[in-house]
Amino acid sequence: MSHDAKAVKHRKSVSRIVVGHQAMEGAGFLIHRPFPTHELLQIDPFLLLDEMGPISYAPGAAQGAPDHPHRGFETVTYLLAGEMEHRDSAGHVGTLRPGDLQWMTAGAGVVHSEMPSAAFQKTGGLMHGFQLWVNLAAKDKRASPRYQELSAAHVRIVEDSDLGERVKVLAGEYRGVTAKVQTHQPILYLDVELKADAEFILEVQKDLTNFVYIYEGSLVAGSEGRHVAAHQLALFDDVQGELFVKAKAQSRFLVLAAAPLREPVARRGPFVMNTEQEIREAILDYQSGRFAEIPPKVDKN
Ligand code: MN
Repeated sequence: MSHDAKAVKHRKSVSRIVVGHQAMEGAGFLIHRPFPTHELLQIDPFLLLDEMGPISYAPGAAQGAPDHPHRGFETVTYLLAGEMEHRDSAGHVGTLRPGDLQWMTAGAGVVHSEMPSAAFQKTGGLMHGFQLWVNLAAKDKRASPRYQELSAAHVRIVEDSDLGERVKVLAGEYRGVTAKVQTHQPILYLDVELKADAEFILEVQKDLTNFVYIYEGSLVAGSEGRHVAAHQLALFDDVQGELFVKAKAQSRFLVLAAAPLREPVARRGPFVMNTEQEIREAILDYQSGRFAEIPPKVDKN
């Protein structure tokens, strides 16, 4: 044949499957954490992904993270079940309910608390959601703290019953639908639900970090048809091509894509900077009270 008019698209391969190991944080906060681990410190520019729960709390037993600082990156919280209240030193108070997204830019520094709401603490119930840490480029690490809250009603959804897919666009753009969240660099963050046997195909530009994290069901992923189970992450190659997954059963998963920063990472607990010197500065600034105080709690009815 002289030529083939049909462009054959590259189907990306899965370069790595990572298990989201179950762990207890603090006083009994169940998480699945695919990264960071000793083997996988980051998936540049993403620093951490925690699946919070799913865990069913008895009344009075729900756990959270009291006041703690952050500097140099963003924390993105997306709740599926339960109710949380976030307060930060920039003066923001927000209640997260199922389907809500909070995109917090710690930047130069915030102190915040992430706790079950008083109402949820009283009743108990199912808690399930995600926290993603997005690194900031050196030029953005000292940005003013910013807090974006997107309630479930404002999360744009792409639904195609023929394809058997329902996609919540949390950040970035999918099939012409753009999320309302503003990010420092382009980031794609989708929450996808697929019916059994349905396929999800996404064209991804070259040199982008891209992965899926499955939290319900199971998938076949990539050109080799690797099997990926719930609480596992499939990392794809960074060649231009199609990210392909097929649901073996009704499945739900996150899709993340972004350009890696390729900058040095110095991290200690809640601080992520470029150098050890900047980490020492962050600790000193926090210890000497240069991070603002969290405003007093205001009761709401
Ligand atoms: Mn935090």
